[in-house]
Amino acid sequence: MDLIIRNATVVTMNARREVLREADVVIEGNRIVKVGPHARTRLTRAVRTIDGNGLVVLPGLIHAHLHACQTLCRNHADGLELLDWLRERIWPFEASHDAASMRASADLTFLELISSGVTACLDMGSVHHYDAVFEAARDAGLRLVGGKCMMDTGQGVPRGLRETTEASLAESVRLLEQWHGTSNDRLRYAFAPRFVLSCSEALMRRVGELAKARGVRVHTHASENPTECDLVREKTGLDNVVYFQSLGLLGAHTTLAHCVWLTTDEQRVLRETQTCVCHCPSANFKLASGVAKVPELLQQGITVGLGADGAPCNNTLDIFHELRLAALVHLPRVGPTGFSAMQALELATVNGARALGLEHDVGSIEVGKKADLTLVDLSGAHLQPVSNDPVATIVYGAQAKDVRHVVIDGEVVLRDRVVQTMNAEQVRRQAVTHARRLLAALDG
Ligand SMILES: [Zn+2]
Repeated sequence: MDLIIRNATVVTMNARREVLREADVVIEGNRIVKVGPHARTRLTRAVRTIDGNGLVVLPGLIHAHLHACQTLCRNHADGLELLDWLRERIWPFEASHDAASMRASADLTFLELISSGVTACLDMGSVHHYDAVFEAARDAGLRLVGGKCMMDTGQGVPRGLRETTEASLAESVRLLEQWHGTSNDRLRYAFAPRFVLSCSEALMRRVGELAKARGVRVHTHASENPTECDLVREKTGLDNVVYFQSLGLLGAHTTLAHCVWLTTDEQRVLRETQTCVCHCPSANFKLASGVAKVPELLQQGITVGLGADGAPCNNTLDIFHELRLAALVHLPRVGPTGFSAMQALELATVNGARALGLEHDVGSIEVGKKADLTLVDLSGAHLQPVSNDPVATIVYGAQAKDVRHVVIDGEVVLRDRVVQTMNAEQVRRQAVTHARRLLAALDG
């Protein structure tokens, strides 16, 4: 059935960044067919309508770096730097997952994402049980580009996560063949070698070849923390990004999370290869990693998306927290006009779409694009008095609870703040039950 959103403020994020007032968005099937004042025509078919009065319609917000497998470890890995955080808490935690706890973790994640206006994400799994994450996204109605984490080497990797190069590649290809393009192309595969320190050169090289041959994305971490960068140089003789380039991993089809500590040469390589970066400001603060030079990367024409990273290093997956932080954190360095609210919103919309390889389908509200939309209610006391700039109002001050409706692929998955595709109470209960078991094993 078709859908019309009537009489809303529409932040299109089109090339001219137009904001339309008292506009309608008309959706047929899963595509946007009209946008603008009085765009509704005499549709002869039965339609559903959403009254957009007082609402701002944004392109569906996009998390470009996430670990749904880690959400049950939220609030249980505080006060650590990256490598200790991984070795002491996250890897042992991930190793103790079974398929049921993975499903519970993904359900909880996607409940939080949809409730807070996120329509798509780029996710990195753990080594095992990635089918459960795809199943959860399929049932929740979320758009997911994801893949199992690949780890065939590394110090401090627990037995439950260790895998051979061949097994890692074989399981990745199996998942790709089973899930890529399913659910009306809402689900896509991305190879996810974890980072240089947990992947052999042979594995990385093969991933580069396979990703190109299969036309799918590569999603990994790079240059998050100075100790990691030192160890990468020790292991390979090269900086992270240059090493990836030497293995044929870079290109517009690759997204590197973090990129906090980049040399000038690495920035040049990113620019020349059109490799995408994902900015994760909360995670970079909480693990005491540093601040990525996002305004400078954008100025060079590098695509930068926005992500929460894992719940245990954030500890929320609320994209409004990331938007606000991304908009503010660079200002002491670049000045009060050096990075705008619009630029922050670009990270989570048009740029996020590119970081997921979905720029032709989502990221803006334009005729022909898929209908992924986030409808924000600006009537909350904390937003008064609203200005005539809805983007600044939302980026600096809106909260997850202000999200009123969410549409993904033409389906209303959040209506009046109620997720339509999941039983929220059951998801919470299941998550707590499974988390108790996993965390007892971790702390025992
Ligand atoms: Zn991460």
